[in-house]
Amino acid sequence: MTSPITHNFIQQLTLTEKASLVSGKDFWFTAGIDRLNLEKIMMTDGPSGLRKQADSADALGLNQSVKAITFPASALTAASFDRQALTTLGKNLGEAAKNEGVSILLGPGINMKRSPLAGRNFEYFSEDPLVAGELGAAYVKGVQSQGVGVSVKHFAANNRENQRFTSSSNMSERALREIYLSAFERIVVNAHPATLMCSYNAINGTLNSQNFKLLTKILRDEWGFDGVVMSDWGAVADHVAALRSGLDLEMPGKGPQSTTEIVDAVKHGDLTEATLDIAVKRVLQMVHDWHVDSQPKTYDKAAQHEFARQLAANSMVLLKNNDQTLPLSSIKDVTILGELADKPRYQGGGSSHVNAYRITTPLEVAQVAGNTNYQAAYSLDAEEPDANQIAKAIATAKQATKVVIFAGVPEALESEGFDKTTMALPDNQNELIKQVAAVNPHTIVVLQNGSAIEMPWADDVAAILETYLAGEAVGEATWDVLTGAVNPSGKLAESFPLKLADNPTFGTFNASPLTETYHDDIFIGYRYYDLKQRAVRFPFGYGLSYTHFSYHNLTVTDHDQNVEVSYQITNDGHVAGREISQIYVANHASQVEMPIKELRDFAKTTLAAGETKTITRILPRRAFSWYNADTNNWQMDDGRYTILIGRSSRDLDLHQDITLAWNPQAMAPITNNTYIGTVMARPELRSALEATGIAKNFDALAGDDTNSEMMKNMPLRSAIMIGVNTEQLDAFLKLANQPQSDEVH
Ligand code: BGC
Repeated sequence: MTSPITHNFIQQLTLTEKASLVSGKDFWFTAGIDRLNLEKIMMTDGPSGLRKQADSADALGLNQSVKAITFPASALTAASFDRQALTTLGKNLGEAAKNEGVSILLGPGINMKRSPLAGRNFEYFSEDPLVAGELGAAYVKGVQSQGVGVSVKHFAANNRENQRFTSSSNMSERALREIYLSAFERIVVNAHPATLMCSYNAINGTLNSQNFKLLTKILRDEWGFDGVVMSDWGAVADHVAALRSGLDLEMPGKGPQSTTEIVDAVKHGDLTEATLDIAVKRVLQMVHDWHVDSQPKTYDKAAQHEFARQLAANSMVLLKNNDQTLPLSSIKDVTILGELADKPRYQGGGSSHVNAYRITTPLEVAQVAGNTNYQAAYSLDAEEPDANQIAKAIATAKQATKVVIFAGVPEALESEGFDKTTMALPDNQNELIKQVAAVNPHTIVVLQNGSAIEMPWADDVAAILETYLAGEAVGEATWDVLTGAVNPSGKLAESFPLKLADNPTFGTFNASPLTETYHDDIFIGYRYYDLKQRAVRFPFGYGLSYTHFSYHNLTVTDHDQNVEVSYQITNDGHVAGREISQIYVANHASQVEMPIKELRDFAKTTLAAGETKTITRILPRRAFSWYNADTNNWQMDDGRYTILIGRSSRDLDLHQDITLAWNPQAMAPITNNTYIGTVMARPELRSALEATGIAKNFDALAGDDTNSEMMKNMPLRSAIMIGVNTEQLDAFLKLANQPQSDEVH
């Protein structure tokens, strides 16, 4: 931001002072140096609200933190698919942090949702790296616009909680690059976060806190990151090895031991002072750039609460709405069932837990509106159905015009620090929903949960609203959507499978305490369900509105190094609404395993009733690439791609093919081992085939389907068997490998 830390300043530091700077002073502060007037700065969780611990700090957050607005968890904000909203969220958080004297905000967590059982899914955005990367970048820009730095976490491949301090995420280089690093890369390159937090786990056997490839080669050398890498709390096993690998700041510090071990390592030659200086310089630069006034000030909490309400309402996902059961014409007359109406789950457990400023429960909001029809109907502390409670609920539900059941995952079953063991709701809730739906055809289920759940009753109820963990304004936001004051516009940023066993990690997730093997490779979430043609409960990208949108007039234009996509959306209904349109690319060109399609962009558009808007987006080269681990490159292949546009990953009205030629020089050379099928698929080689007389032999067999297929699977050298001689082959190889003319590509 301002002038960089000078070499001279570092030279004034003693070795002990330098060593003290590369570990936290305590849980939440960097070390200061009084002698040189170097102040310490404070860092605090978190992603959905400030968790600034007021008194005696402790890492588990058992002590009360200052009151702060609890915004919706990332599982819900991701469903907004709204970059602008995420930037505003970041601005709110930055404002809160700045006024509380906090310089660095720890979060967002942008890890991929690989298994629905992962305990921290509520804190993460998506199963898709583009969504996590785009929304994460928007959020970082918002926070940092307030002069507060962000630590993006947990770098990387921290996709389970059990044994998170030691387990190794073992995967192919391609899966690592395309799925598990891609969101981090997008944020580093586009939003320049002040810091990254390296995660506890290992990747392919090397602990992330001492992973040179991850922290230096990829992060700094390839992506150009110049900020601080700090450890997750307690992630450093070997501080010296960590510094050598590119970690700058161990958090929290271990007290004098942290300093001594570094001083000793330098003295014994295990660590060069030059390496230490690099980390010191980065820490000093961070303190310099992001230092805020530590004196707490007031800020407009009421306005932030109002934003939390809007953000939640604009993110909730309407999953089902038969016969326009929703919106409700009034709050007053509905029957409300479920203890979660009274004791809502509105935030996740663990380090993101916020001491809420003002919680509005759904029950309280309904009571203010004059509703007196509430029954708890189940207990959050129990799992077994209680026959008396259910019987009482059924008796009331039979008479009710409409029933709203609040259901969800109790906090004790879902938190940071451990993984879930089931995707099911507790039996008492499933039973209640099943029995109520059987007596009342206007049963509406409102869900409060951190990640995808099974819904065995989905076909039996009239409507389902997914509110995830909606933050402290949960009551207001939920009724805003149920009554139509806000037209729902959220869509799922994760797939909801029919059952856990459908997920690719079923049976292998958490199977070993030591390693997590990513058998699913690049086929995470919809990439897997699409490939295997699996039915899902609700697909990735899915969500309804109280209006209807139609899609038209797709045009796709090749601009040589990028592709322009343009289409129109019309709001065909009678109310204004917002539509998240999704752009997928299907790659038919590359001869490697490929997902059926991948999300490459999205747009959120507000449309008045009857209005039509044109959306134009540019897809860059990367949208057509895959990571080739043999060449260590993002590779674009020449050939056919399909652009697909629509409402969800399984509702894509518009599609158009395009044939792209990216990079003629990069075409693989033709050798004796090149398959005849590959040669025949490249029309520009036809003239060489003709000039050498080989075309005749090929054409003779091409007329017969079986022979033609068999021939495609033979290498050029075996063309001898179909009458081609070696001179012809040599001549062909010469011609085929001559530089191509511009005209061809
Ligand atoms: C969590 C981090 C968090 C840190 C500080 C760790 O246990 O994994 O996400 O930022 O604690 O609270």
